[in-house]
Amino acid sequence: MIRWNADQTALRQGLARWCEPLSAGHIERDAEGVFPQDQWKLVQESGILGLPFDERWGGLGQSLLTTLYVLEELGAGCRDGGLNFSVATHMVSCGVPLQRFGSQALKERYLPGICSGATIGAHAISETESGSDALAMRTTATREGDAFVLRGGKAFVSNGPVADVFVVYARTHPDGGPFGITAFLVERDTPGLSVGAPVAKMGLRTSPLSELHFDECRIPASAVIGRVGSGFLIMDHVMKWEILCSFVITTGQMRYRLDRCVEHAKERIQFGKPIGSYQSVSHKIVDMKIGLDTAQKWLYDTAERLTAGENVTTDISIGKLLASENNLSSALAAVQIFGGSGYLTEYGLEKDLRDAVAGPIYSGTSEIQRNRIASMLGL
Ligand SMILES: Cc1cc2nc3c(=O)[nH]c(=O)nc-3n(C[C@H](O)[C@H](O)[C@H](O)COP(=O)(O)OP(=O)(O)OC[C@H]3O[C@@H](n4cnc5c(N)ncnc54)[C@H](O)[C@@H]3O)c2cc1C
Repeated sequence: MIRWNADQTALRQGLARWCEPLSAGHIERDAEGVFPQDQWKLVQESGILGLPFDERWGGLGQSLLTTLYVLEELGAGCRDGGLNFSVATHMVSCGVPLQRFGSQALKERYLPGICSGATIGAHAISETESGSDALAMRTTATREGDAFVLRGGKAFVSNGPVADVFVVYARTHPDGGPFGITAFLVERDTPGLSVGAPVAKMGLRTSPLSELHFDECRIPASAVIGRVGSGFLIMDHVMKWEILCSFVITTGQMRYRLDRCVEHAKERIQFGKPIGSYQSVSHKIVDMKIGLDTAQKWLYDTAERLTAGENVTTDISIGKLLASENNLSSALAAVQIFGGSGYLTEYGLEKDLRDAVAGPIYSGTSEIQRNRIASMLGL
């Protein structure tokens, strides 16, 4: 078990004062389905966006583990699941690949804005015809002199409607396969790039999502992140971070929900007794706790091993399955434990459930994670 030191604890506790203003009005914002600009400014002020980035770019220079420890608290304290999702997407989709693989010039130009949150980031991998099978992407980037020309389109781009920069993955080699993909940093106002309108969706409604279209979109060759053909390796690195960061936030949400259900089960009296004294209720809560503890331990353990340079391919998939699927069952159980009130919008639990449905889909579906584990077992 990790023993957090005083600095890590202080950093996490420092986030506490932001959580109330970040959460204020979250149910109304969900109904409106708009990105919360005011809350984003508070996120910027809190400094958390710079957690894993080097101090020379304005970051806090924290380790992956410390970053996760603070993000978990964001999940526990901030009730706006869409905002939390946008925070993780912003931090991981652009900042992480730039810091790890970007040229000095790209880092100097973009990382300060990404660390402060003044520049909002997003990434574009999925397309309408290629989701799980990401390598089947059809968007191409063709070298023309000192530039690449992007042609095609992307779907499901989280933060798309509000992003200033996109990490776009496109095919630079006509042969299928992992080494034909390259990552590019594309600015929103690049001629030939059009950003679609926000797409209505079930949950995470304050985290807007859109399509991108590239029509002869010319970007300088200096916008390549890493090397031409290294896009798949970058994607793999980003996915590991994305799963750890997004789903440690999820475990924070599960912790808050568990506490709420325990309290309700002790206070709500039916047939003369607290409903928590009925085994069918208490066992639901026990399962919520088992799901939370297992997912949380697994994610931190995987992060430690990733930091140590170990191969965590299977563990990342297991961590994603544990967190996303246990979160979904815990969110459903919470609605049931609260009875009719759980179904009412004002309690926030139905929103929580709608948000939770996305977990087994984004960052690689549950089926794809199980396929990955099966292939690591030689099946
Ligand atoms: C809230 C949200 C945010 C997202 N944000 C982003 C983003 O920022 N950037 C981005 O690029 N994408 C994003 N996505 C897209 C996401 O990555 C894809 O939706 C996901 O990879 C699944 O692809 P698909 O929707 O095309 O489904 P499909 O790939 O068509 O899959 C449909 C179903 O078939 C199953 N399936 C497919 N292939 C297999 C197989 N070989 N074996 C077993 N089952 C299989 C899937 O598991 C799924 O159940 C987001 C999605 C959501 C819901």
